[in-house]
Amino acid sequence: MTDVLSARRRLARHLPPTPAWSYPLLDDAAGRTVVVKHENTQPTGAFKVRGALNLLACVGDDRPVVTYSTGNHARAIAYAARVHGVDATIVMPAGAAELKVRAVEALGAKVERHGAGMPEAEAHANDLAAATGARIVSPGDEPALVAGVATAYLELFEQHPGLDTVVVPVGSGTGAAAACLVAAAVSPRTRVVAVQSGAAPAAHDSWRAGTCLRRAIGTRVDGLATGRGFELPQRLLRDRLADFVLVDDDAIDDARRLLARRAHTQAEGAGAAALAAVLARPELMGPAVAVMVTGGNATEAELTR
Ligand SMILES: *Cc1c(COP(=O)(O)O)cnc(C)c1O
Repeated sequence: MTDVLSARRRLARHLPPTPAWSYPLLDDAAGRTVVVKHENTQPTGAFKVRGALNLLACVGDDRPVVTYSTGNHARAIAYAARVHGVDATIVMPAGAAELKVRAVEALGAKVERHGAGMPEAEAHANDLAAATGARIVSPGDEPALVAGVATAYLELFEQHPGLDTVVVPVGSGTGAAAACLVAAAVSPRTRVVAVQSGAAPAAHDSWRAGTCLRRAIGTRVDGLATGRGFELPQRLLRDRLADFVLVDDDAIDDARRLLARRAHTQAEGAGAAALAAVLARPELMGPAVAVMVTGGNATEAELTR
């Protein structure tokens, strides 16, 4: 928690708190109070910028950084690198969407396209770091990312004391791990429930099994498409997470439409997964639930659907 409080101090000059409020028509649809935490309003369109800014502030030197991602982690590192004046190289798979590549380049980072998928991109990023002396940034196993992301939950529990449940979408698990840490310290009666797509259940299956597993990625939901469990977040989730829910991709699309129509909110798939979990598993939620709308960077295909 000390690290989380330090992260909050570091982030204060860069990011204002995001809003968290509810919408009567959304409450009606869900049959309970649904607090929407609006991480879609971050300057990069997703919560990950909190972790990236904290990590680069902690590093405190101007050594270049290398990471791998197709989406919001890439944008977050690029944004933070610009703020902190360090060079960033992001390895993306060869097939990464053009708009995502451009979004990262527009923030001043260098993009290297390499390999068919994330495992190849990860390997190439490691090679690059070894060859150039740059610092490799893991999207999951970085304590400073978890501490930075945790500031969202400090805000949430101050904005809304007395929540029964907070629902967090999971890729690598930094967000859910952060939620567990902060809830235990400042809102111990709030249950943290994680959600992933049933078409890419690596983190879910790792948590149930108690060990990091690999799973195929069959989901079209970007932020949730992780092929393996990450050690650090899994360790934090192990005893603290109340439950882990799987939803299907179509239910996530339905939740996106509901957020658009009833909460004038554009969420990407991962950003709507928490609401999908509330609708799919109401018996787990209690009368007052918070959903983390973790990001708003909907893909072209998502916008069309
Ligand atoms: C990365 C991401 C997630 C998953 O977060 P993790 O910390 O990797 O579990 C959820 N939603 C969005 C929008 C994301 O970008």
